[in-house]
Amino acid sequence: MKKTVLVSGGAGFIGSHVTVELIQAGYDVVVADNFSNCDRTGYEGVKKITGREDIPLEVMDFCDMKAVEALFGKYPIDAVIHFAAYKAVGESVAQPLKYYKNNLSSFLNVLEAAQKKGSFVLFSSSATVYGEPDSVPVTEATPRKPATSPYGNTKTICEDILHDTVKASEGRLKGILLRYFNPIGAHPSALIGELPRGVPNNLVPFITQTAIGKRECLRIFGNDYPTPDGTCLRDYIDIVDLAKAHVYAVGRMVEGRMKQDCEVFNVGTGRPVSVLELVNAFEKVNGVKLNYKFAPRRAGDVTAIWADPTLANTEMGWKATRTVEQTLKSAWEWEKHLAGK
Ligand code: UDP
Repeated sequence: MKKTVLVSGGAGFIGSHVTVELIQAGYDVVVADNFSNCDRTGYEGVKKITGREDIPLEVMDFCDMKAVEALFGKYPIDAVIHFAAYKAVGESVAQPLKYYKNNLSSFLNVLEAAQKKGSFVLFSSSATVYGEPDSVPVTEATPRKPATSPYGNTKTICEDILHDTVKASEGRLKGILLRYFNPIGAHPSALIGELPRGVPNNLVPFITQTAIGKRECLRIFGNDYPTPDGTCLRDYIDIVDLAKAHVYAVGRMVEGRMKQDCEVFNVGTGRPVSVLELVNAFEKVNGVKLNYKFAPRRAGDVTAIWADPTLANTEMGWKATRTVEQTLKSAWEWEKHLAGK
């Protein structure tokens, strides 16, 4: 029997790539999204890539418990992957209530409905929960640090909510937390990718938009960090590799291979890359010159963080496979696709 996976926020950047991988792995997928932060491009792209016209799409808000209950009543949901959330760090500092209200209440509703139905839950957490770690790479056992933004805090709080709920449910609810490092790139088909609204906050969309001429100049925030070239170190994970980690995690849940009722996995490559290295690699692999300059540090940025992905590699059997160069090529192809080039 085919298993059904509900993907909340399934039309967004990560959600659309995960939907593709799940369908290609043989799952039935229900996409649910309120399109508050994306248009239909992602959903239409998923249909094209998979050749499937019949992917159910539910336009709804997960803060609306009645709608969530109706959704769980309508489909035989074996597992839910929860992406539906606001994600702009700066906006969360300016409007904390908007972030706490939306990101927490939608997750609470999903948990309540999943517990009632007996569905597994996969929550999209983030390396942001580690803050500025005392040592790198970080394992899942590395202590979490207080969040530096309300957005980051919602990740920490949702992790705790899942742990507590699973514990109290005495086996009726089980879940996995995936802690993403820096997801970048786009699907190799260039039919889906990241679609930031307005000026991008993240590095790679800013690079591609500068290269295509939408932005004048990339600012590299800080070249005086205590790192080999003075710029920050991150673990950039290819979006398709990251999406595949969800297929492994869902398989682990629905096929009864979990070893604990609530499991945590880092989803990263284990490879630190500096901002400058990433910029240079982008120029080299795509044969384009990037206009960039050094600028002061950005408030809230950590110096260096990368994953120890051993647990995901050995326990889930998942491993990142794509090189930074392949990923930066896919990011550029996507930007060119958007520009109609
Ligand atoms: N960064 C940069 N210029 C930009 C955007 C980001 O130099 O326009 C740097 C940022 O300081 C950090 C790295 O790129 O060191 C990754 O930032 P991003 O916002 O993509 O992800 P984060 O690690 O903050 O979640």
